Amino acid sequence: MSRSVRDRLPLAAGLLLRRPSAPTNAAAPPLRPPGALPEAEFVATCERSGHCVAACPVQALVALRSADPRRDGTPQLIPSQRACVLCDDLSCMKACPSGALSLVPRAAIRIGLAVVHHDDCRRSVGEPCRECIDRCPLQAEAISLDAQGRVAVRADGCTGCGVCELYCPTAPRAITVLPLAQRPAPDHGSSP
Ligand code: SF4
Ligand code: SF4
Repeated sequence: MSRSVRDRLPLAAGLLLRRPSAPTNAAAPPLRPPGALPEAEFVATCERSGHCVAACPVQALVALRSADPRRDGTPQLIPSQRACVLCDDLSCMKACPSGALSLVPRAAIRIGLAVVHHDDCRRSVGEPCRECIDRCPLQAEAISLDAQGRVAVRADGCTGCGVCELYCPTAPRAITVLPLAQRPAPDHGSSP
């Protein structure tokens, strides 16, 4: 881990200013908090207590609003609004009373996988942007430039925290976190 939670606090403060109340796409698989069981087991186990949501020091987790009663009230992460900062205490996992979240080491967290959409990336038009790389809590363990100067995500290092997506300046964002079940082939912007 290359940054302490203290180092990430300015980032957390920035997140607080960026949170719109966007509607939830009920059809898309949500990104779950760190340490979550696979989706089917997660929705069957989560008690909707909200303890993980309350425990997060940067308010990265929100209760999902959904017409699907299996998902309504369950916690999710929306990186374009606020990202997980991989806090030092890993509070959400410790706060879960049901077993829907279990404590896993920080480097083993796999919320999802960041995928680069190169056609939208500012680097594709020669701009020297590297926001996603410089903001990543794991730095080169998870994301770097490849030999061609393109952003490359390491699938074996990316935790899916979403900091890259939050800070990408393009619209639509040129890097997004997908649930692991939706990960594309490696040549779509991630490397094994
Ligand atoms: S690991 Fe920490 S920062 Fe990330 S969602 Fe859980 S409580 Fe929030
Ligand atoms: S932050 Fe977005 S635009 Fe900038 S290098 Fe990363 S993916 Fe490209």
